[in-house]
Amino acid sequence: MKNVLSTKASSINRALDEIGDKWCLLIIQEVLWGINTFTEMLSATGASRGVLSDRLNWLQSVDCLRKNRANPNRPTYHMTKKSIELYHNGLMAMNWERKYFSTPELDAVALIHNRCGKAFWPIMQCDYCNQDVYCQDVSFIPGPGAGKDQRVTKTRRRSSSIQRGDLGKTLYRNLINLLGDRWTANLVALAFHGLKRFDDFHKELPVATNILADRLKLLVNEGIFCQLPYHQSPLRYEYHLTDKGQDLFPYFSTLLEWGDKWCQTSKGEPMLMHHRSCEQSLKTQVRCDQCGETLVATEVHFKL
Ligand SMILES: [Zn+2]
Ligand SMILES: [Zn+2]
Repeated sequence: MKNVLSTKASSINRALDEIGDKWCLLIIQEVLWGINTFTEMLSATGASRGVLSDRLNWLQSVDCLRKNRANPNRPTYHMTKKSIELYHNGLMAMNWERKYFSTPELDAVALIHNRCGKAFWPIMQCDYCNQDVYCQDVSFIPGPGAGKDQRVTKTRRRSSSIQRGDLGKTLYRNLINLLGDRWTANLVALAFHGLKRFDDFHKELPVATNILADRLKLLVNEGIFCQLPYHQSPLRYEYHLTDKGQDLFPYFSTLLEWGDKWCQTSKGEPMLMHHRSCEQSLKTQVRCDQCGETLVATEVHFKL
């Protein structure tokens, strides 16, 4: 029997439940950058054959990968209309990784915007007021689809952990290592909604308390949360996002917008983002910092 967890309806959680597993994130990343065959993916991701074929099947079942059998001996995997729209999310993941980690493979890569011909850095701006978006300026309000989601806590998919050294040329390996666990990612998302205390996290994410404590500890160790005492005796702590944690906002907001579009129910968005700088509901654009145009996957190439 499947275990079901009831949590506040959230497009971030829906997106994470579809593609947020470490191996899925890795596969999508590799396919986005042009790795297309099973053999190439095997070596690029470091996954076992069983795990890789399991996740490839899963991603096809949720319409995030398409298998091309033109050459039956060498099928290739491609992005779909749905998964190509994770491109902005991938760029935001790269931004965060580049800011906080030095990775020789990543540092050597320059992103070139074909439209303006320049090396660029992707920036997130508000579609309405064109200002850069910071999480301090965004609030979340219940949308027409607010309510509860029933989520399966255990799936038939085999899970396995990735060792730090196993991630090869992955462009945002640290982010995937950290957020490729859905409870960890859920906790960061809840922190963006203003949650700070263990009991509040537990109320929204009713998983076993030892799992919750373990993930909070991990997030503190990784510098995403810092602990601030709010009660002296007994000593109790709140968990606050650090600057490094707050800088994950573009990753989560792009995931939310993707989930709103691709993982929605008939009721509409569970949650709306509001941009306080312009007092409008927030729709983000990821743009080239050189020419200001919105970035699309087909107009960007990498230069080593
Ligand atoms: Zn705005
Ligand atoms: Zn440009």
